[in-house]
Amino acid sequence: MNKKRQNIFLQRREKRKSGRSRSAGTWVLSVLLAALLCIGALSGCQKTEKEDTFKVVTSFYPLYIMLMNLTDGVDGVEIANMAEPQTGCLHDYQLRPKDLVRLEGADLFVANGGGMEEFLSDVLSTYPSLMVVYALDGLHEEDLLPGEEHAHGEEDFHEETEAADSLGALPSGVANPHTWLNPELYKEELQYISSILEEQDPENGEDYRENCDAYIRKIDELTAEYDDLKELPSKKGCVLLHESFAYLADAYGFPVMETVDVEKDSGFSAREIRQLIDLVREAGDAMIISDSQYSGRISRLLAEETGLVTYQMDSGVSGEYEKDAWLDAMRGNLETLRTASGMTSGSAVASENRVKDPEKPADSETGSREE
Ligand SMILES: [Zn+2]
Repeated sequence: MNKKRQNIFLQRREKRKSGRSRSAGTWVLSVLLAALLCIGALSGCQKTEKEDTFKVVTSFYPLYIMLMNLTDGVDGVEIANMAEPQTGCLHDYQLRPKDLVRLEGADLFVANGGGMEEFLSDVLSTYPSLMVVYALDGLHEEDLLPGEEHAHGEEDFHEETEAADSLGALPSGVANPHTWLNPELYKEELQYISSILEEQDPENGEDYRENCDAYIRKIDELTAEYDDLKELPSKKGCVLLHESFAYLADAYGFPVMETVDVEKDSGFSAREIRQLIDLVREAGDAMIISDSQYSGRISRLLAEETGLVTYQMDSGVSGEYEKDAWLDAMRGNLETLRTASGMTSGSAVASENRVKDPEKPADSETGSREE
């Protein structure tokens, strides 16, 4: 019964997806782009100046932040981000001509993969020789969590991922593509992208490697501060309103009771809202995790109706172009997990477990963004 209800919300999204007319939009886009590129070609010789530059374009914000760290201080490399920094996840993203223009002259396009960039075929039909690297290809099949299509059981999920030539090329819905929210997987992706940069721009290979190591050290320092979350004797279940946090919950061993991918949707009928409320009630004493990239309207409603507490987390998909953006978002999320687990900031699971820095104030600013 539970599962049947959940299907309503998932199917709803499918319908929206398939109902969208892509072909007409793509055609208009191609014509516009052809015109823009012609103007570029006519305006002449700017390009030769840039020929020595190794240009890397990322599809969206979390990858741009990754590249900011990898290319920091490296000469002769230029990075650009295709989607605006406030775009958020790229599910259902409609390409615009100016997105495609940003890819002009790119030597490498860094995409997430796993269906996050459904528009990729449009990009490749405009730039057929563009080299694309998927962050997901830095992972192993067993690292991936099932996506929407397999939300009700993993039966053929592993068959599908094992059979895939490339994890990055998996279509939308098979695997959950929000892998950057597991710090260990994020590091694997980072090392993989770094190895591609080294290969494609060997002159700067050592610099990329050093940057990669330095960033990994920062990530390790951060996660080491929160190891006590892993040792919690009992962990609250989570109701996820966007599948992104499944990776974070998995990394820290918090059980996921329900995933209802509803936040990006608006305009639910009263009946659908009632069903959603019942579904969340059935999860029992859980925490609702809402994604700050969305309005929070549904999470507020669910909290009011069920009496459960909603915690807003940051999936690191939008913000300022700052090198430490991922680290800051992750720190906020880990603090939120601590708060939700009844631990105070900077204190251990149970104070008898370990001795903590006595100089740290017990109830300092937690950084959590509980609604
Ligand atoms: Zn997403």
